[in-house]
Amino acid sequence: MTTRLDDKLNLIYQDVLHRNPGETEFHQAVLEVLETLGPVVGKYPEFADKKIIQRICEPERQIIFRVPWQDDNGEIHINRAFRVEFNSALGPYKGGMRFHPSVYLGIVKFLGFEQIFKNALTGLPIGGGKGGSDFNPKGRSDDEIMRFCQSLMTELYRHIGENTDVPAGDIGVGSREIGYLFGQYKRITNRYESGVLTGKGLGWGGSRARTEATGYGVVFFTEEVLKTRNDSLDGKTLVVSGSGNVATYAIEKAHEKGAKVIACSDSGGIIIHERGIDLELLKQIKQKERRRISAYTEYHKDARYVENGDIWSIPCDIAMPCATQNELNGKDAKTLIENGCIAVIEGANMPSTPEAIQLLQEANLIYAPGKAANAGGVATSGLEMQQNAIRDSWSFDYTERRLEEIMVDIHRNCYETAAEFGCEHNYMLGANIAGFLRVADAMTALGVI
Ligand code: GLU
Repeated sequence: MTTRLDDKLNLIYQDVLHRNPGETEFHQAVLEVLETLGPVVGKYPEFADKKIIQRICEPERQIIFRVPWQDDNGEIHINRAFRVEFNSALGPYKGGMRFHPSVYLGIVKFLGFEQIFKNALTGLPIGGGKGGSDFNPKGRSDDEIMRFCQSLMTELYRHIGENTDVPAGDIGVGSREIGYLFGQYKRITNRYESGVLTGKGLGWGGSRARTEATGYGVVFFTEEVLKTRNDSLDGKTLVVSGSGNVATYAIEKAHEKGAKVIACSDSGGIIIHERGIDLELLKQIKQKERRRISAYTEYHKDARYVENGDIWSIPCDIAMPCATQNELNGKDAKTLIENGCIAVIEGANMPSTPEAIQLLQEANLIYAPGKAANAGGVATSGLEMQQNAIRDSWSFDYTERRLEEIMVDIHRNCYETAAEFGCEHNYMLGANIAGFLRVADAMTALGVI
């Protein structure tokens, strides 16, 4: 693959390829950052002397372990779990756990690497980490999920702590799983250490607005983007991929702001509802009943379900990929451009392929990367840690206001950083450089460690 790297950065990238064979998603995430760091290396040669970039690309610690568990029929299963503690220059490692059959070291490392910059952008004292397992929660009973979580925590507990590493949710891990993980941590350690995990339930140390935070944050970020063009969400048509936590609350907030979301999806297909997605129904199907979105058409005869449908072929003003990595490719980008879409704002982590990003930027669409636009989730995890530390519980409105302030700040920081480096409106460059500078300054101050 040809890159847009200068010689020095290319050497670093070649080394990453060599040291991490086969981890394609990790290579992609690193390349995406390195391609925007050229101007920084020129401006701050001290970072090269201190090998800051090489150090950032190598996780501080990588933990891989076996998770044996028994299903409801007594059969034994063996899964593999990971925790990659990537960078703790700014605070304890922080990042979610993902349960999905596609999880392997390369996925966890790409997520952990992105998390460093995302967490730095929040302005909060949190480092970057990520974990997960190739466990497939689909079709598993509540008891099976509990046994799996307990087995996983029986190893993970020795590596985490409120001042060490603070996991949370991601794909396949919500408050039910966090509950089982927290219960086992508490049992093994005999400590009610609320701050060891975030995304907890409201009755036992969780933060209000944490569930909604990622999706709401994406919409707050979008509003800020549109403001720079004297525009707003009012009257806009949106397509949001996914139907999990991020998508659901992005739809909720977008509707509140006067936009209309006409499509969403799951791994089986897409729902198109020109009148606007019925959010209460979506929540009922996905959250309460834990069913597939195809059930939506049982209730709305004017909605369409398209199995394996192509969600990016639906004309819209703004596209919000909120499902998973590499879900929006070059072909999709071309279709969005042809259909007059003005912005792609990422709710998921790395949902656009490098080819898609290049096409969107060349066509002058607004492109906002996940590490900036979806940072509201982890930011509110940071607020949950604050509440746990002072044994307090804030109101929904107050917490949401803090979240909004953080998203406004992240947007401003990305926008101004891009402008400072002569690339106005390039949110990818602004996010990468602003996040990098905060981490690099801390790493420099902490010495060679
Ligand atoms: N998994 C989420 C993310 O990608 C949230 C992590 C957290 O709250 O620690 O940022």
